[in-house]
Formats: sequence, C-alpha cells, structure tokens
Amino acid sequence: MKRPTQKETNPFPYSDSNKRYRTYDWFLRERFGCKVAKIPLAADFTCPNIDGKKGVGGCIYCASGSGKFNAPVCMPIEEQYETMLASMRKKWNVTKTIPYFQAHTNTYAPTRVLEPMFRRAVSLPGAVGLAVATRADCISKSCARLLSDIGKETFLTVELGLQTANDNTATLINRCHSYGDFLRGYYLLKESGNIGICVHLILGLPGETREDMLRTVKQVAMLRPEQVKFHLLYVLKDTPLGNMYLSGSYTPMTREEYVSVLAEALEYLPPETVIGRVTGDAPAADLLAPEWSRKKLTVIDELDKLLFESARYQGIANQSATL
Ligand code: SF4
Repeated sequence: MKRPTQKETNPFPYSDSNKRYRTYDWFLRERFGCKVAKIPLAADFTCPNIDGKKGVGGCIYCASGSGKFNAPVCMPIEEQYETMLASMRKKWNVTKTIPYFQAHTNTYAPTRVLEPMFRRAVSLPGAVGLAVATRADCISKSCARLLSDIGKETFLTVELGLQTANDNTATLINRCHSYGDFLRGYYLLKESGNIGICVHLILGLPGETREDMLRTVKQVAMLRPEQVKFHLLYVLKDTPLGNMYLSGSYTPMTREEYVSVLAEALEYLPPETVIGRVTGDAPAADLLAPEWSRKKLTVIDELDKLLFESARYQGIANQSATL
C-alpha cells in the first residue's frame, strides 16, 4: 500500500502543502488570491549604529558596518522597481507586488523625508502593499503616526530587527539597543494601529545557548506579532564576526543544530503568526561560514522532514489555547 505523503498527513490548518508552519507565500495567496512578489528597494539611508548616533561599526555581523556594501547614490525607486520587476518577470508572471525598503534603517529620517518616499512606493504600478525594515529605536511618535496613516491605505508591514531579547548578547554583538528599546518601538506601532509588525530573529548569535534562543522566541510569541522572520547567523568576510570566526572565538551552528532549534521555536509561536522566512541568504562571494548555509533549500527540506517525522507543527506547544 502507498504510504501517505507529508502533505496528505499534514494536520496544520494554515497550509496547502507539506509546510507545518504558516508560510508567507501561503498567507499572501490567501489574502491577495495570487502569488505576490516582494520587490527590494534601497533608499539613501544609513543606520544610527553605523553613523555614530548610537554606535560605530554596526552590528558585528553587518557588512554595511564595514562600509563594504554601502549603496552608492541610489537610483530613483521607480527605476529600481522597474529593473527588479523586469528581472523577476523573466521567471514568472508577476502582477501584484509589495515594494520593500530593506537595506539599513528605513525610518532613520524626519517624517517630511519619509512620507513622500513611502507614498511614491505605494503608488508604484502593481503595488498592493508596502514593507519597511527598520530598528525599533528609530520609531518616533510622529513616524508611528505617519506609518499608521499609510497603513489605512495599503497593506503595511513594518519589519523590526530584534535578533535577540537577551541584553547581554545585544551588547556583545554591538546592537546598541536593548529589549526595552525594542518594546517601546513595538508598542508605539501597535498602539498607532493599521500596521502589521514582522520581528526578525537571529539564531546562532555568539554566546547564546539553545535555551537563550528559545527564551527570545517565547518572549516574542507573547507579543503575538503578525510575522516573524528567522535568520541563520552567517559569517561574512571583513566583519568583526568574521575576525572572531577566523581567530576561533566563534563557531557557527551546524545544520542539524539550526534545524532542531528552529523546529522547536515554531512550536512556541502562535499559528496565526506568519513565518516570513526560516533561514537567510548570504552574499555568496563574501560568505566565510557556515558552508552548509549555501544550500537554503536543503535547510527548508530538513525542517519539513523533522517536523513531519516528529509530528510537530507551529503552535503545537500552546495548541489547546490557540487552535
Ligand atoms: S542595525 Fe542593521 S544596518 Fe544597522 S548595523 Fe545593525 S545590521 Fe547593520
């Protein structure tokens, strides 16, 4: 007799495949009725952790902190958008998009500068939403008000880099903001309304145990954000973390460790939280380690396999309360 497939035996309700977590792709198809492409845009901002306002050199893993990847003067966002879209359309038929201000800190400017930029992005042809990546300590009251106004008009997600809720680790990685700072920005956005929040977390930060990583996930789960993105800490050339790795004072996680922590982390997150990603893409030429991170699809497949074999899925740890 034919064995049932992972998809046929999937008990997770927010999925039409073998995924046992609420993927961003599934969520967008449900909401917009078709595949939606996220289009990265670069605005001409820096970061308070690079320009000296809060720190210099950036987070220890950040290649922008070294100045190496700083964008030159950017093309107008309309041109960036057209270029990205043309390249995506060679592969598939893109009709709806979410412009995404991704690099650096995209609320690190007065609202009189931010507002026209966000409004131009929202009116790009095919745009059905907007995503803005930033730091929680760069959300002022006026910025939260502006974002809330934009969120009344379109599907808005503000992506906040938390990385860890452990302040000792935050200091070690030169993050230059605490969990308290994060919460202040998070609640400013929440209380303003009309804004979906995506929290970015990094697994494998120096000095963090499995318990430390899961503690952060449990703290974030209590906030019930609309979205969470998991990143693997990869090591890039010409960064302080790269030097730590080369001197032997930092050892990246193995793939097995990463997938195992990730699977448990998903158990604690509410099933309604969308999982924006489960690993990251390092710039290939600058990657020092871990070598296994180059094969992103293998990581995703290993996660699916582990969840299937151990009969687990997103939110199962709180199942009685949430499903
Ligand atoms: S907050 Fe982001 S852009 Fe700024 S230094 Fe850290 S990783 Fe780099």
